[in-house]
Amino acid sequence: MLSLRPGASPVDDAAIVYSGRRILDAGPRRTVLRGFAGPVADCGDAVLVPGLVNAHSHLELAHLRGRAPAPAGFAAWAAWLIGQDLTPPPDAVLDAAVAEMAATGTAAVIDVGSRAGPAVAAALDRAGLAALVCHEAFGWKPGRKNPVPEALAVAAPADGPVRAAASGHALYSTSPENLRRARDACRDRRAPFCLHLAEHDAEAELLATGGGPLAALLAGRVLPRNYAPPGRSPVAEADALGLLGPDTLAVHVVCADAADRRLLAASGASVCLCPRSNARIGVGVADAPALLAAGVPLCLGTDSLASNNDLDLWNEVRALLAAFPDFPAPAVLAALTTTPARLLGRTRLGCLAPGSEVGFAVLPPDLRERLTGS
Ligand SMILES: [Zn+2]
Repeated sequence: MLSLRPGASPVDDAAIVYSGRRILDAGPRRTVLRGFAGPVADCGDAVLVPGLVNAHSHLELAHLRGRAPAPAGFAAWAAWLIGQDLTPPPDAVLDAAVAEMAATGTAAVIDVGSRAGPAVAAALDRAGLAALVCHEAFGWKPGRKNPVPEALAVAAPADGPVRAAASGHALYSTSPENLRRARDACRDRRAPFCLHLAEHDAEAELLATGGGPLAALLAGRVLPRNYAPPGRSPVAEADALGLLGPDTLAVHVVCADAADRRLLAASGASVCLCPRSNARIGVGVADAPALLAAGVPLCLGTDSLASNNDLDLWNEVRALLAAFPDFPAPAVLAALTTTPARLLGRTRLGCLAPGSEVGFAVLPPDLRERLTGS
């Protein structure tokens, strides 16, 4: 068992006592099970880790599973998405997507959307997952006064396992004022502020020059006619707007150079890597080792079923390790557990210890040697 508690060593022949997803005790079997009278399930020769945190998903797109077009860049993918039926999926589809997450070890989720927040929160709650469900600010029109809709705030109360927050879509799609308002709402709620950032070259080109394929797609539709490109990289622009800080989760960060990585590290912002979504859309590969070397805390997310085949976070690990075979195992495990838990401000996520609220996951056999060395 890897408890991932600070300073803790792996425990051989371990046992976990749990009720629902709450861990009541964890440690050596002979001590944990002493006097225990409940049912015991033997996991056999397995490595147990804390339940995983999927740091970026859009469950409201779960009905688009299997429909994503062939990789052709972000503008082409976005044009495809705009043409889809974006009516919120029925509860049965949401339940199936959440069940897939739970069955593959995910115990907590940071989900982003704008059309189905209360239904998504309810589905996560029904399955017993912990979550932050974020209402995404989008567009240049003055945003809603309260960035977190009342219905979502009611469905995801601040003291429950499923909580609500706001988020920002992206620098190219949403006004600085709306992004700042969402960021401020997150601070009020002590929640991280999620922002898609530096996902693709088209974003970098639009911010640098005002042109490119994304400008052609968004002009007159999302982008204001008087849009003035800042002439900076996406990361530099986010920094200039005051959107980066220790409570920021920048999602993707595929297009970043050394100066951008230094800015991110200096701000304390975390980055959520979504390697399979990036591959499916065809935007390139985030330089995870360089981000890690720069000191940027990393998380992992599946992104949505509109740009991924499934919601199995272990498959994100496989994709990351396929791209970067030498990426260190402790950094992978931290990205799945302790780093997003810290970002969420929920110390009872991310480790296997009495009082932990995320249950446990079993390390898949094919990843066992790579992630534990045993
Ligand atoms: Zn996303």
